[in-house]
Amino acid sequence: MREGKILFFVQLMALIALFLQPGAVGWARAEPLTAFVHVNLVPMTKEVVLQNQTVLIQGERIVAIGPSDRIAAPADARIIEGTDAFLMPGLADMHMHIRADWPGSSWPVSPFRLYLANGVTTIRCFGPSGKTGKYVLKWRDEIQSGKRIGPQIYTCGPILRGPVRHPERVVIKQKYQGFDFIKLYSYLSPGEYHEAMNTARKLKRYTAGHIPFQVGLDGVITAGMDEIAHVEELFWELVDFDRHKNLTGAAWLTYVIEKSSEQFRPLIELDMAELESRLRPSVESTAAKLKDRQIPVCTTLFLDEVIIQKLFHLQAFLKKPQNRYLPQWYIERLRQGKEKHQQQFAGGEEFAPYKYLIDKGFLKELKKNHVVLLLATDAGTGAMGLVPGFSIHDELRILVENGFTPYEAIATGTKNIAPVIQKMTGQATLGTIEVGHRADLLLVERNPLEDVAHIRKLRGVMAAGRWYDKQSLQQMTALDSSAAPDR
Ligand SMILES: [Zn+2]
Repeated sequence: MREGKILFFVQLMALIALFLQPGAVGWARAEPLTAFVHVNLVPMTKEVVLQNQTVLIQGERIVAIGPSDRIAAPADARIIEGTDAFLMPGLADMHMHIRADWPGSSWPVSPFRLYLANGVTTIRCFGPSGKTGKYVLKWRDEIQSGKRIGPQIYTCGPILRGPVRHPERVVIKQKYQGFDFIKLYSYLSPGEYHEAMNTARKLKRYTAGHIPFQVGLDGVITAGMDEIAHVEELFWELVDFDRHKNLTGAAWLTYVIEKSSEQFRPLIELDMAELESRLRPSVESTAAKLKDRQIPVCTTLFLDEVIIQKLFHLQAFLKKPQNRYLPQWYIERLRQGKEKHQQQFAGGEEFAPYKYLIDKGFLKELKKNHVVLLLATDAGTGAMGLVPGFSIHDELRILVENGFTPYEAIATGTKNIAPVIQKMTGQATLGTIEVGHRADLLLVERNPLEDVAHIRKLRGVMAAGRWYDKQSLQQMTALDSSAAPDR
């Protein structure tokens, strides 16, 4: 205790000295300093732009923020001139997937780089590929120590998909392996789900996932699951099906898809507006169940749009510049008509736009009910046509198209992630620009609070205090032959 106090005092004195005599206290710090000066600050603590600010970074932390005429940047600090530019927190993709083939030859450019180059400084993996997923923990540590370029990673272990033989053992094992949370999936039986949830609660593990078909939203709320993995999970609540049916694994998905097409096929005759008003009461009452529940929901709406593009506008989809970054095997599969959603929607293609309409209805209702929404794309598997990093900008656009202000949309990927990461890991240093927080920052050409599309024009990205200027971001995503995958 005493030692702690002395250490705190020494740190405090060092900090005071640093600001009283800028440039004169090089001895007090081992880590290099960077100062953004004269910048328009978008801290995302509230909807505000502070003009002519200096933000001082030491190592990976923000150590001071204030008006540029009051905070002098230390003489030995690297200066990044921010005149006319806007400094905002780095974005998070709160639901994505990391795969073992990422740094290999499958992707033209490593998704880690695609993320950084698009201003995503935090990613949360909702299920790594492979049996153990341990490589993700290794990559996470390598990124943290600076050995590998990429955003900060949070990850669950392998998904508890169902059937699971010993849910308790799996939850315990994943805790000791160092995974950040437990991901629960659609096919768990009530017994498996509750065993996993009870163990997770005892071990203080964060739980997130799908709404298991046999459990339903009410069951998930009662069990106290911390987070729901997609807005579209609520869609299944509108479908009338037998939750006690004796099925296992993916047979459940086949069954509920069958039931939903049975139920919704007659509605497809209606025009969109009619359908919307017909379904509105059930959408409203389902979304209202989450009111005051403190259960955040990941957005993943762009996926619906991508599904429609793949089913109805394949040529245009293939020509989209960002899709040059998809794995070649995936493009081939698409061309052959054998891609995941091409197969899932085969014969029922006309249903896709209606599903999107309903999901957008849920999004709006969740917002109306003040449910915390988290910016998320489900990118990374390579098997769905979502390009890591690029897709985050589409997700933001869709939020704005559905009634979010730019501030509210950006908050889903910045401010809103703070309590989630804190509950999950105990860390309280993400999401907003504040002293003591991790230096995950985007320097943007124009005001992002006027238009979220401005975030696409990056002057540079700082991830955990490491600065990548515009030129290095461009090199990161270069598709020419000299740009080898991840090195
Ligand atoms: Zn996912």
